[in-house]
Amino acid sequence: MIYADNAATTKLDMDAFEAMRPFLLEKYGNASQPYSFSRVVKKALRDARITIASCINASPEEIFFTSGGTESDNWAIKGTLCYGDSRAIVTSQIEHHAVLNACAFVEQMGFPVVYLPVDREGIVGTDELRQIISTKTKLVSVMLANNEIGTIEPVSLLADIAHKHGALFHTDAVQAVGHIPVDVKSLGVDMLSASAHKFNGPKGVGFLYIKKGTAIKPLADGGSQEFGMRAGTENVASIVAMALALSKNCKYINEIEAKLHRMEEFFFTALEKSGIDFLRNGAPNRIPGNINISIRGANGEMLLHRMDLKEVCISTGSACDSTNTQISHVIQAINIPDEYAKGTIRISFGKYNQESDAQEVASTLIEILKNNIASKT
Ligand code: PLP
Repeated sequence: MIYADNAATTKLDMDAFEAMRPFLLEKYGNASQPYSFSRVVKKALRDARITIASCINASPEEIFFTSGGTESDNWAIKGTLCYGDSRAIVTSQIEHHAVLNACAFVEQMGFPVVYLPVDREGIVGTDELRQIISTKTKLVSVMLANNEIGTIEPVSLLADIAHKHGALFHTDAVQAVGHIPVDVKSLGVDMLSASAHKFNGPKGVGFLYIKKGTAIKPLADGGSQEFGMRAGTENVASIVAMALALSKNCKYINEIEAKLHRMEEFFFTALEKSGIDFLRNGAPNRIPGNINISIRGANGEMLLHRMDLKEVCISTGSACDSTNTQISHVIQAINIPDEYAKGTIRISFGKYNQESDAQEVASTLIEILKNNIASKT
């Protein structure tokens, strides 16, 4: 089996797995208790916070552990709207549903939301933001890297515009953290969401970076964990593993990136040689290992299932119901022509892929497409 869907989730790093073990079996104390059995757990939480903070150039008190990207996004959006009376939100049309649906919720509650368009490469324009932002804008939320097409957004420029108008800036960095260098200070963001299972950590754990002094309310009320900001007994084993996975990925980030770029090259060379008519989606400045293509006359969902039969896991940018093909909101936003859009697939390689996987995935895809053409003629 070749797993080429690392943007959906990643394999758990073995060292991260080993780091979890003692906190599941032996060191299971509740970090909130004062006895020494729990002190070791409290220290592990403190160390994990320090490690994560250093990976993104934050202070440990600015890292808040959550259950993952969805919770972090919801918290950033809903938690900041409670303050002040300037209540509009600006976001982009290509955000993950964790942001889009949180925005839809607050819109129903009466807070205006503007969805910025993107260009053909999926880039949110600074001019577009300048045109619609006002002193009534409370929050701008634009992702650091898109989960479908891999485009890296000009977050520091957008954050600068938001701040000049007195608005806060949040970025969903779920696809970026652990894959490209992320520095919250040079990005200039007030909040940043991350999720461990996207960088070889466990599922169901993540964090929200909240810059010191940012006015935000807790999402849930309860105990005093996470400096009184995120109630609930901490998922210590997963938090420890998340910190280890992130620091390991950050340590080898350049080597991993170089390997993934080589794999992209292999893949595109093979596909171009085959004569298949396809469009490359996303911007040149993109997440390493992300390949998003739209193949003329193909059907993305059919390709996913045929690849699955050949034991290759990929993803799609379109899904069929019984009567028609639904093109993803991202592929629609970048205006891919219809005859290509239906044939959109995402292949995302990760650190555990072998370089030969790129050749293998390309040749499997080419074989399926050629057979499909042959069966139609
Ligand atoms: N944001 C982006 C960009 C994502 O890709 C994902 C997951 O696919 C999420 C948020 C949600 O993260 P989680 O699965 O940790 O809730």
